[in-house]
Amino acid sequence: RDWERRVSRSARRRSESGLTVLVTGAAGFVGTHISVALKRRGDGVLGVDSFNHYYDPNLKRARQRLLDRAGVFVVEGDINDASLLQKLFDVVAFTHVMHLAAQAGVRYAMQNPGSYVHSNIAGFVNLLEVCKSANPQPSIVWASSSSVYGLNSKVPFSEKDRTDQPASLYAATKKAGEEIAHTYNHIYGLSITGLRFFTVYGPWGRPDMAYFFFTKDILKGKPIKIFEAANHGAVARDFTYIDDIVKGCLGALDTAKKSTGSGGKKKGPAQLRVFNLGNTAPVPVTELVSILEKLLKVRAKRLVLPMPRNGDVRFTHANISLAHRELGYRPTTNLETGLKKFVRWYLDYYVEKKKSAW
Ligand code: NAD
Repeated sequence: RDWERRVSRSARRRSESGLTVLVTGAAGFVGTHISVALKRRGDGVLGVDSFNHYYDPNLKRARQRLLDRAGVFVVEGDINDASLLQKLFDVVAFTHVMHLAAQAGVRYAMQNPGSYVHSNIAGFVNLLEVCKSANPQPSIVWASSSSVYGLNSKVPFSEKDRTDQPASLYAATKKAGEEIAHTYNHIYGLSITGLRFFTVYGPWGRPDMAYFFFTKDILKGKPIKIFEAANHGAVARDFTYIDDIVKGCLGALDTAKKSTGSGGKKKGPAQLRVFNLGNTAPVPVTELVSILEKLLKVRAKRLVLPMPRNGDVRFTHANISLAHRELGYRPTTNLETGLKKFVRWYLDYYVEKKKSAW
């Protein structure tokens, strides 16, 4: 009873026109920011997250407390648990699903390939199965990844470019997600939007990402490894600030059309879209390190090494004209401004251990 009450209260929206959104992976980095943003503008939000131990579980619990204070309840569970998802859909008529739950990171696939298949493929299919039978059928917006461009050497990456050369199992499972989305749209009339995020960073970020562990190691005086590709110089990334990503996600949710039901019989074909959400300003990793040195006021011990074949690609660079046109997406935060906010949070949370950090 109490559980049902908490679920309903969290998912209650403030206005008739608002959305009712199930956010999977809500205690994750991106999920936390999106859930808070949706709640703040008056939408109903319910989170689900398995709180897996891929990285610091305390960080996920701290995000959960933040969400709790914002009025977002996060149900603890796996998206592979069909009966749990069914129970949530029985209690709440979700209009949208923001699907972020996934096994992220490219290198971990070498240790635990099964977790990518479990969360990114089986979990996605399970979620779509529940969505397809729900009444009303929700519209789905989900996180694909820039990694689907793989070994593509044409820059900037645009949505029509080839995505048939994934460099990691992570990328392969995201690409599989895009194919699976096509099937569920085609057969069951589900409206599905895939967002290819480009290296998202910011406060409450993921400890397995370079900007995060560089910060930690620079402060500890530990050497940091910078990889350079043979003949090509430094590795570069189209780092995209979390607030810009959140705006892109809200744009995708707000422009998502209704699902049309099995076979698209109700109102014509359902929507199937895919967009790049990047910053269109790739920065070499060496420059990322220089900015961190400046912000932290500490010189890094740089260890420059040849790039191993570990699933990483040499560079990423988004063409965002489609997202600009269709979603009104326009990133506004440059790397130095965004990192300043990240560093302030990092120092408050990890060094000063200030309560105000969360
Ligand atoms: P994250 O790891 O912080 O968040 C993912 C959350 O999903 C975690 O809290 C985890 O506990 C949860 N989760 C994993 N498997 C689950 C399962 N089977 N059932 C329920 N919950 C599960 O990652 P993030 O950086 O917030 O990424 C969010 C989404 O965006 C992911 O789909 C990721 O692949 C994608 N993405 C992220 C980036 C980035 O740079 N952060 C880039 C491209 C794509």
